[in-house]
Amino acid sequence: MTAERTSGPAGPDFPIPLARPVLGEAEEQAVLGVLRSGQLSLGPRGPEFERAFAAQVGARWGSAVSSGTAGLHLALRAVGVTDGTEVITSPFSFVASANVAIYERATPVFVDIDPLTLNLDAEAAAAAVNSRTAALLPVHVFGYPADMATLERTGVPIVEDACEALGGSYADGGPIGGRGHLAVFAFYANKQMTTGEGGVVVTAEQSVKERIDSERNQGRAPNMDWLDHDRLGFNYRLSDIACALGLAQLERLDALLADRERVALLYREALRDVPELTLPCENSEQARRGWFVYVVQLPRGVDRDAVVTSLGGRGIAAKPYFPAIHLMTYYREKFGYREGQFPVCEDISARSIAIPFFPQMTEGQVARVAQELTHVLDGERRAHGSMASRA
Ligand SMILES: *Cc1c(COP(=O)(O)O)cnc(C)c1O
Repeated sequence: MTAERTSGPAGPDFPIPLARPVLGEAEEQAVLGVLRSGQLSLGPRGPEFERAFAAQVGARWGSAVSSGTAGLHLALRAVGVTDGTEVITSPFSFVASANVAIYERATPVFVDIDPLTLNLDAEAAAAAVNSRTAALLPVHVFGYPADMATLERTGVPIVEDACEALGGSYADGGPIGGRGHLAVFAFYANKQMTTGEGGVVVTAEQSVKERIDSERNQGRAPNMDWLDHDRLGFNYRLSDIACALGLAQLERLDALLADRERVALLYREALRDVPELTLPCENSEQARRGWFVYVVQLPRGVDRDAVVTSLGGRGIAAKPYFPAIHLMTYYREKFGYREGQFPVCEDISARSIAIPFFPQMTEGQVARVAQELTHVLDGERRAHGSMASRA
């Protein structure tokens, strides 16, 4: 799938997709090895992958699970989120980070986001803490670390949604995932590394790992006969096939992350002079983004959906990213959320699009995307004629 690169209208790179995994011989061999062993799940690759992944992010323990969502669910259970409690989180995220609270009949409580980093506003999160708050669930959105120090001062248990943040570091320079909180990573095919579907929950505490390992496997204790279960559990296991794929991806992770950074820098150069286009925020202090997607904010007044459609017509995949969670139908109907409650999130969400971003993107592809985006935005400006800076 990765070997040869063709481009132009006839090749597999046209249209230019939003994301594409890097998979090669090593991944094929790893998966074949498991298939040939006959042990497709609960075999040796699971613990091996967990140890290697935890070491990668500077964490003590890792538990492999069937998805990032499953990991977030078990992590919330592990910090005591139950019926009637509240989980403070960001409305500017993938819907899974809020849904997991509802799985436990807890209420996701949103606070607005920081207009620069797009992460939940940590001061607002601290101010929202009350006696029902069971957890804070910051999302390191688009791989940029949330303001952990401010959140930690609340003393409330923290579950980090690090599903987009593999390879990033916090403001103090430590790797995302290595701070001692429960943190959850995900391996769908568009993430920094993939196992097809999958995730890992990392933790500093052995007892937490044991609880999660049990709950992902029907509530069975490690030494328990398969006929008995001492707690409620789920089937959130990750197969040995997936874990073997994950081990192969870890081997090349440094190169994958370096390539993502390379593409991000190319985009920054190619897009820096597009009028009124807001690019992803720069790293500050020692905070480093783990590059996951490339999301730009279009100028106010531009028809975002028209831009996405025009780009599609020109062979450039793009999509609105993220829609605000509190304005989704289910959330409006269940919790009564409405427009105007989180104005920063709503403004940014209405103007943001993800453009193609993957490790093997060429300089030519980046230039092509930049050229088409510039062209489409110029057309929009002419059509509406309302933008401020029309030099
Ligand atoms: C990818 C992602 C998840 C987890 O997704 P799964 O598809 O369940 O692995 C959770 N939160 C965010 C912010 C994500 O981007």
